[in-house]
Amino acid sequence: MTCREAIDVLADFLDQTLTVELAVQLEEHLRDCPPCRAYLNTYRKTRELTGQTGRVEMPEEMKRRLYRFLLDRLPPPLDYHSSPAGDPRP
Ligand SMILES: [Zn+2]
Repeated sequence: MTCREAIDVLADFLDQTLTVELAVQLEEHLRDCPPCRAYLNTYRKTRELTGQTGRVEMPEEMKRRLYRFLLDRLPPPLDYHSSPAGDPRP
């Protein structure tokens, strides 16, 4: 599961409407991905603050900021063409 997929299903996860299969995948992703855990915590807090138990739409601005926060913490994509270690093949 990618971070984007994880974020897409977070609301369903909190509503417990996610399929077991997806919930397991999400939990596995969250275990290895602190930024997504932070996103989940913020999302959950937002719902608590608004006092709603159902699905809550995050304000666009917050969504953008969180997504930015998340992307900034992701490792950059591997660049196989300019590895400083040189060609690993013999
Ligand atoms: Zn993630």
